[in-house]
Amino acid sequence: MYSVKRGGRHGHQAYEPGLEIIANRQLHADLRHALERHQLHVVYQPQWNPPDGELTGYEALLRWEHPLYGPVPPAVFIPIAEQSGLIGIFGEFVLRAACTTAMQWPPGVRTTVNVSPLQLVENKLLAEVCAALTASGLPAGRLELEITESKPAVDSEGALITLHQLKKLGVRIALDDFGTGTASLDMMHRFSFDRMKIDSRFVAGLPEDTRGHAIVGSLISLAHKLGAQVTAEGVERMEQAFSLMELGCDEMQGYLFGHPDAQTSVL
Ligand code: C2E
Ligand code: MG
Ligand code: MG
Ligand code: MG
Repeated sequence: MYSVKRGGRHGHQAYEPGLEIIANRQLHADLRHALERHQLHVVYQPQWNPPDGELTGYEALLRWEHPLYGPVPPAVFIPIAEQSGLIGIFGEFVLRAACTTAMQWPPGVRTTVNVSPLQLVENKLLAEVCAALTASGLPAGRLELEITESKPAVDSEGALITLHQLKKLGVRIALDDFGTGTASLDMMHRFSFDRMKIDSRFVAGLPEDTRGHAIVGSLISLAHKLGAQVTAEGVERMEQAFSLMELGCDEMQGYLFGHPDAQTSVL
C-alpha cells in the first residue's frame, strides 16, 4: 500500500489514496459479483506417485478472471474473500465443482480441495461436504480437504470438532504448506492428519540445499511416524523429484508433473 502525495493549497501535504488502494477497493467490490457473473472457475493440478508412475489425485484451485484486469491470483483474492465474508460461498462452489468433476476420473483418483480456516470455524462445512458428496455421488474416501496452517483459528475447539466429524465421514484431511506456520507441531499433536503437504520453499533448492534437504527429510520422517503420508509441493525439476524419492516422499505435485492452468478439464 502506498499514498500519492499532492501539494496542498497552503503548502501542506494532503494525502490521497494511491492507485493500489483504489484498485483494492475495486477488487473488493467486483469480487462480490464474480460468482454470479461466471468469472470464477476451478482448475486442477495433478498429484503423482513417481515410483509407481501413478496419478493419485488432482488439487482443485480457484481462479478469478476479472473482466478488466484479467486473471487475479488467489494470493490476492482469497484474502479479500475471507475479509468480506465471501469465502464460504466460494468454498462451497469449489467443493461442488471438484466433487462433480472427480466423478469423471478413474475410481482410484481423488480430488483435494483447499479449505479456509474461516470455513472451519463457520460450522457449515460438514453439511456442505455431505451435500456435495450426495449431489455428485463421489465416495467420501475420494475427497481430501487441505487445511493451511499458515493462518490462525484452526486450533480452536470448534474447528477440531469439525475436522473429527469429517474424518468420521471418511473424508481425508491434509495439512497444507507444512512447515511454514507457527502452529504446525501443536496441530499435529492435536489432530491426526492423513497427509502433510511440504511447502515448496523447502523443496525449491533440492538437492543442493543441504539445510532444505535436512528439513524435508525430517518432516517426512515425522509425518510417517505420525501415520501421515507426504506430498511435496512445487516440484519443478527432475533432480528435486529424485531427491524427494530418495527421502521417501509419497507423492509430488508441481509444474514438472502438470501445470494447473494448462488444462481446465482433465483426462
Ligand atoms: P496451495 O494450496 O499451497 O496451492 C499450491 C499453489 O502452488 C498453487 O498456487 C499452484 O498453482 C502453485 N504451484 C503448483 N505447482 C507449482 C510449481 O511447480 N512451482 C510453483 N512456483 N508454484 C506451483 P495458486 O493456484 O496461485 O494458489 C495459491 C494459494 O491460494 C493456494 O496455495 C491456496 O492456499 C489458495 N487457494 C487456491 N484455491 C483456493 C480455494 O479454492 N480455496 C481456498 N480457501 N484457497 C485457495
Ligand atoms: Mg493446497
Ligand atoms: Mg495453501
Ligand atoms: Mg501449499
